[in-house]
Amino acid sequence: MARSTGTTDAERRRLLKLAALGLVAAPFASSVFSVPARAADLPMVDEADPTAKALGYHCDAGKNPARTDKTAVCDGCMFYTAQPGGKSGACALFPGKLVCPKGWCSSWQKKVT
Ligand code: SF4
Repeated sequence: MARSTGTTDAERRRLLKLAALGLVAAPFASSVFSVPARAADLPMVDEADPTAKALGYHCDAGKNPARTDKTAVCDGCMFYTAQPGGKSGACALFPGKLVCPKGWCSSWQKKVT
């Protein structure tokens, strides 16, 4: 007999959402990660961007009431790659754009070190 909890269902939905976003982002990922010299020229993610809105992205993580882990910010996320200078970083979910190191979205996943 399979047991299901609210947490398990929420995790399953989150993984499905990440998988769907990964399929959309995959064709563009190489363009983000293969041209590091141009990364500084990339635009920052606009919080009004449809993907940003769907994920609840904010450059200032503290402005997002959905964020329950107060230590969770982009520079601690597995999808984040810091740019030289540390003022921004690439995010695998926003190909071709940069995010704020102290930003946050609902797809945040703790970086494994
Ligand atoms: Fe990208 Fe992670 Fe920041 Fe979300 S929390 S915008 S997935 S780096």
